[in-house]
Amino acid sequence: MTEHTPEPWRTSIGELMYGQYDVLAAKGGFPNVGIARLVTVEFSSTALGSVALCREELAANGRLIAASPKLLAACEALLMDHNLFPRGVGWVCPFCQTECVSMLHHKHDEDCPVLAARKVIAEAKGIA
Ligand SMILES: [Zn+2]
Repeated sequence: MTEHTPEPWRTSIGELMYGQYDVLAAKGGFPNVGIARLVTVEFSSTALGSVALCREELAANGRLIAASPKLLAACEALLMDHNLFPRGVGWVCPFCQTECVSMLHHKHDEDCPVLAARKVIAEAKGIA
């Protein structure tokens, strides 16, 4: 499985034409390697399911994409936090308050953020 381009990623807001915000990274000595280009549709039609995004929403999407490597690393670090590891029978998840009843497996509630973090990490790494 190929790894994503190392961080930092950044937006180029203000550097490009209106309606286009690229997400860039530095790699292999090149300062501007394209990660993503955000564009808005020129034709807005609710019947066709396309709606033009405003400049601010495009910028917000660009910031979210640029932050994604750091978000991934933060999720992985949080899951590695020893406070989130079951410590045996009687350990209680700080998020969903489920109590560990087995040394081999801890079952979180369906909506526990620990499970959500595991799922999104797997999706981001293409192993979901
Ligand atoms: Zn939990």
